[in-house]
This record gives sequence, structure tokens and C-alpha cells, in this order.
Amino acid sequence: AIEVRNLKKSFDGGKIRALNGVDLEVEMGEFISIMGPSGSGKSTLLNMIGALDVPDSGTIKVAGRDLSEERDLSRLRAEEIGFVFQLHNLIPSLTALENVEIPMFAVKHVNMEERAMELLEQVGLGDKADRRPTELSGGERQRVAIARALANNPSIILADEPTGALDSKTSRNILQMLQKLQDEEGVTLVVVTHEPHVAEMASRTIRILDGVIVD
Ligand code: ATP
Ligand code: MG
Repeated sequence: AIEVRNLKKSFDGGKIRALNGVDLEVEMGEFISIMGPSGSGKSTLLNMIGALDVPDSGTIKVAGRDLSEERDLSRLRAEEIGFVFQLHNLIPSLTALENVEIPMFAVKHVNMEERAMELLEQVGLGDKADRRPTELSGGERQRVAIARALANNPSIILADEPTGALDSKTSRNILQMLQKLQDEEGVTLVVVTHEPHVAEMASRTIRILDGVIVD
């Protein structure tokens, strides 16, 4: 599902080497976790795989498509990838329902509202569809973010510390929700985490240090 070869990325004109030759293969339907200290390059790697940023060199294939050869990265992102960010990134002025509808604009669903409602029900928030993010708890916001990530039935979900800001019970609940998608729908999961109990749920854990995979 994901193939990364000799990936390099630096910032500040080469002064900061965030990724220093990363190779990684993730099979379809696999659940992998990525661990490593702060600043080791985890988010940089996830952002490259999610086509949110471009590497200096190396190749990335997602769902069989070479990212450097794609003309329309935002379309590929909308079609194949669901992103869950550490700080949910919901739009404050929109309701939960409207936030879930956002990715669908890129691929034009026939009935976006119905689909968004279905997704909110799936994450247990059917009764809170009209609330704005400030009117939801942290765990509820993260569930909205997951519903949004699922909007276009992505084959891959990339999650950057999706439970970092949550208590352990809510965190487990969110992870179980993601794991269910892997089990029942064969979604490929890549989760950056610093929590051992999250990593334990994954089928494989990758450790990254100073921009290289060490384990
Ligand atoms: P954390 O666990 O704290 O989230 P991380 O492993 O996700 O850390 P990255 O965000 O990938 O770390 O950062 C890797 C390195 O690249 C760090 O030294 C960081 O300061 C630097 N970096 C990341 N993004 C940028 C940017 N846009 N501009 C400059 N430097 C950056
Ligand atoms: Mg990070």
C-alpha cells in the first residue's frame, strides 16, 4: 500500500536534516505504528506519505501511484488518504456535520450531508452533528476528525498522534475505532504515537531516530 525509498528531507537550506534516507514498506491492510523522540522526523515522514509536503529526494508510492508523477496531489489525497492530525484541525466556524463534509467537495459525492451524517453516527456522534468544535469535548472532536478522515473511503489512514491530547480511556476508544476499520474494511493504518499501549495494538512498530529508521 505504501512504498518509501531512500527518502530525504531537509529544512532551513539543508541545516536541519529531518529525514536522512528512510526506507519503508507497508502492506495493504497493515496497522503500523511509528515511534521515536521529539524531532526525530515522524511528522515529516507522515506528511510526505500523505502528500502534504514534497521530499528533496527519494520516492514514495501510495496505492501504486508514484507521488512525484502525480499531477494533482490534492486529488490523490482526497481519493486515497484520510488524515487525522494531533490537534484535530477542525474548522471552528463550521458544525461537526459540515467539518465531515469538507473532503467530499474534492470528489463530489452525490449526497454529502447524508454521508456525513452516517459517518458521525458511526463514531457515535449522530446527536451532536450541529455542534461546533468548541461545544464538543476533546475526545468528541477527535471522533469528528476520524469521521472526516473516512469521508471518501480512503484505503489508507495516516494519524499523527491521534490520541496525544486524550485521557487513556478515550484514547483506547479512538484506537479501537481505527482498529475496527482495519479489521472490517481492510484499511491500512499508519499511526505516529509515543504511547506504548497504542503501539501494542499495531502489528508492527517502526522506530525512528534522527531521521533514520533504527528498528
Ligand atoms: P514530535 O514528536 O515533537 O512531533 P517529530 O518526530 O514529529 O517530533 P518532525 O516534526 O518531523 O519531528 O521534525 C523533524 C525535524 O525537522 C525537527 O528538527 C524539526 O524542528 C524540523 N522541522 C520540521 N518541520 C519543519 C519546517 N517546516 N521548517 C523547519 N524545520 C522543520
Ligand atoms: Mg510530530
